[in-house]
Amino acid sequence: MTDNTRPTDSPAQQRAAATTAAALPVPCPGVDPLTSILPDEPLLMMGAGPVPIPDAVAKANSVVINHLGDTMARVIDQVKSMARYVFQTRSNWVLGVAGPGSAAMEMAVSNLAWPGTRVLSIVNGFFSGRMAEMARRVGAEVTTLDVADREIVSLDALAQVIERTRPEVVTVVHGETSNTVWNRQLQDIVRIAKASGALVVVDAVCTLSTMPLEMDAWGIDVVITGGQKGLSSIPGVSLIAFSDAAWERVRTRTVPNTHWCLDAMLAENFWHNAGYHYTAPVSGVLALHEALRLVCTETLEKRFARHQRCSLALQSGVTALGLQLYTPEACRLNSVVGIALPAGVTPRDVCNHISQQYQVEIAGSFGLPIVRIGQMGEQCREHHLFRTVHALGRTMCDLGANVDLPAGVAALEESLSAAGRR
Ligand SMILES: *Cc1c(COP(=O)(O)O)cnc(C)c1O
Repeated sequence: MTDNTRPTDSPAQQRAAATTAAALPVPCPGVDPLTSILPDEPLLMMGAGPVPIPDAVAKANSVVINHLGDTMARVIDQVKSMARYVFQTRSNWVLGVAGPGSAAMEMAVSNLAWPGTRVLSIVNGFFSGRMAEMARRVGAEVTTLDVADREIVSLDALAQVIERTRPEVVTVVHGETSNTVWNRQLQDIVRIAKASGALVVVDAVCTLSTMPLEMDAWGIDVVITGGQKGLSSIPGVSLIAFSDAAWERVRTRTVPNTHWCLDAMLAENFWHNAGYHYTAPVSGVLALHEALRLVCTETLEKRFARHQRCSLALQSGVTALGLQLYTPEACRLNSVVGIALPAGVTPRDVCNHISQQYQVEIAGSFGLPIVRIGQMGEQCREHHLFRTVHALGRTMCDLGANVDLPAGVAALEESLSAAGRR
């Protein structure tokens, strides 16, 4: 920068000269206001997350409070106790994580595994593979048990690989969102892994509060979830729970965690001692509080029933359109429904068209020839289902595919009525 003040100027003159000086090296950009970027009416978020949020969550998300102090302490206390209900655990070691579901996954992995730790990852697809990758990155000795697309792990194969590799930690996904597979024998997987002395980490990001999962009763050591899926909160604040056995491993480890933010012992200072770790995402925590409170108001039993009823009705509507569901019924996930596309129609075409023409967002899936419609939290509402099945059917017609739109909508209605309206 050139100095265009003169030594004889007074300090005030020098300041004035500085503010009128040549333009800064990085010029101020011209940008559009959000109102001209966002659609006039929000799109209906029916993809694999984030999902629509209730008003109470949106309102809470607009509030900023002190991240330390009595008000926050009360909020945190309630978040933990509601999270215990949702996880079905009495464990003391429930914590929030500032970050996506993946940050909670990384918190689980990086606190339980370090260089040399033997980790077995059951890999059904994209997200279960991510946990294996995280374990490799902390230097663990990772074995993967790769499961074919649209299949569930063979318990015999699991027992054999456990026998052979003696893992200290086993990771598994409850619902594999990428190919819409439900690991329906999760309880057996946990039992077999626990019998060998391993700790079991379960990714329940898309399933928590949408279908039964009982951390204590099933013997799970770590459960993780994100905010923006089943809980219908905002993305960016996640939850994790450790069993006593898992916490003991975290507490007594001698190798420090390379992730400072994700160090569970440091995080405990905030989540249990009302002390400072990092500035908590207060608005997001308030939003999560409201999301959890709404789960408690509804109760898990009713919430599971709502999810099942809505997802099965959606599946019935999609099938009646003449489209194929991607995953066989025996291991089909209800939380996210995968739909195979007719030849000549690409996921990108469908997702773009349904969004632009019908203001409904759905998702593709990491190179698979499918589109996915979420059934998590607020997505499981009848009026959203009608709009979505209609928009999907119209989109397929517009793209030249042969679907029976009236039959799809009728099947949706029949399925919902048969299951009984509430
Ligand atoms: C969405 C998802 C994740 C990742 O969550 P992010 O919030 O995107 O990091 C992990 N596992 C499963 C099963 C998911 O559905």
